[in-house]
Amino acid sequence: MEVSGTIAAVATAVAPGQGSVAIVRISGPEAEAIGRRLFVAPGQQSWESHRVLYGHVVDPANGERVDEALLLLMRSPRSFTRETVVEFHCHGGLIAVQRVLELVLAAGARRALPGEFSQRAFLNGRLDLTRAEAIGELVTARSRRAAQLAMAGLDGGLQRRLGALRERLLDQLAELEARVDFEEDLPPLDGDAVAAELAAVRGELELLVAEARQGELLREGLRVAIVGRPNVGKSSLLNLLSQRQKAIVTDLPGTTRDLLESELVLEGVPLTLLDTAGIRPTTDRVEALGIERARQALAAADVVLLLFDLAAGWTPEDQALRELVPEAAVLLVAGNKADAAGLPVGLVPAGAGLPAALHFSALTGAGRQELVAELLRRCGAGPLEGLQVALNARQRDLAAAAAASLAAALEAAVQHLPWDFWTIDLRAAVRALGEITGEEVSEAVLDRVFSRFCIGK
Ligand code: GDP
Repeated sequence: MEVSGTIAAVATAVAPGQGSVAIVRISGPEAEAIGRRLFVAPGQQSWESHRVLYGHVVDPANGERVDEALLLLMRSPRSFTRETVVEFHCHGGLIAVQRVLELVLAAGARRALPGEFSQRAFLNGRLDLTRAEAIGELVTARSRRAAQLAMAGLDGGLQRRLGALRERLLDQLAELEARVDFEEDLPPLDGDAVAAELAAVRGELELLVAEARQGELLREGLRVAIVGRPNVGKSSLLNLLSQRQKAIVTDLPGTTRDLLESELVLEGVPLTLLDTAGIRPTTDRVEALGIERARQALAAADVVLLLFDLAAGWTPEDQALRELVPEAAVLLVAGNKADAAGLPVGLVPAGAGLPAALHFSALTGAGRQELVAELLRRCGAGPLEGLQVALNARQRDLAAAAAASLAAALEAAVQHLPWDFWTIDLRAAVRALGEITGEEVSEAVLDRVFSRFCIGK
């Protein structure tokens, strides 16, 4: 990414006939000049920083008024990018705002790439990399908890925690490297104490890596395939889950052919339910399509919820479906219609011809809470309340790499190898942590991180 020049983009969502306000954002050395060229503010309004001007965006070629707008000028360095930023707050919709952007581009700005405003904020020292990534996560959050986690990242929670671990490693590295060069001139180093500190940092990193799974669930959501033979209550369960939550259940054409997906949020975790209605476990040729759909759903799912009818008992068809579930899949067997069968709800061990299963009733709602809790527990969601910060996939891989490097350094300690054997791995761990916060990061990595952002951010 080029980091010079003046960039511009529509910073708000672009949709025809929607949004009462649309913002065209300009950042860079020419931002104010472009603003002055295109904006006519009547009366005695003065171009002061952080003041709102009222007026019109005018095409300088013919004086035509393109939109009535507000203009906000934020002079460098008191802006998001630390460059001079000008925002036109226009009327929403598509046509006028696109014309305003075109005028801005004609006046000398170039179109911003996705994430380029945030990248400038990072490069100009306004944000560390974890905060910049948190902005992207806040924008794409699909649940309230995911948004809270992103805000914690934006407040610097992740940066502080990782920064502190990196500092502790740097302290040890300094001691070790000093010994490599000037062993005789320095007091002896307690290898056990160094090893204990490295082990402690490694433990914290491993904890963060484990918690990342929960954060990932909050961010990405969970793909749940609900399978079961006809009439066991799959649709009823879908209704039960979506009703209580008062969540939107949208039917989207699935990413996999022939699958319908619905989205809802349970206990703060966004779920994508893969609808497999119509699946029958049979070898009948006509039913082959149903089986194919079941297989697609099962392959795409993080967890399989296999429903059966407690009133009908565990039938050979249920067993056949059970055998369709891949070995590696996370499976929860749930018995519906506990009311009709006169059975208690909750987790019930195998017995009386039934497999171990979670019993509930989609009709009365009894056992719903237990079902949801068990579903989330099996997927590693655990209790989410205590989760303060969570690494994204990029950060998690780097934290895991740092932990592995520390394990290698500790190996050198166990074998009483010379100090320089410790420092190689320790340096690798420090570098990996620096890549998370952006202190040691290549341009290629930065481009990848920011290109995932939306345009205008
Ligand atoms: P699907 O074919 O698996 O989607 O099953 P449905 O959700 O359409 O349910 C089939 C029938 O079972 C409907 O008549 C439901 O009212 C009934 N049903 C669903 N859940 C329950 C339950 O928990 N208890 C009882 N008694 N009936 C249920």
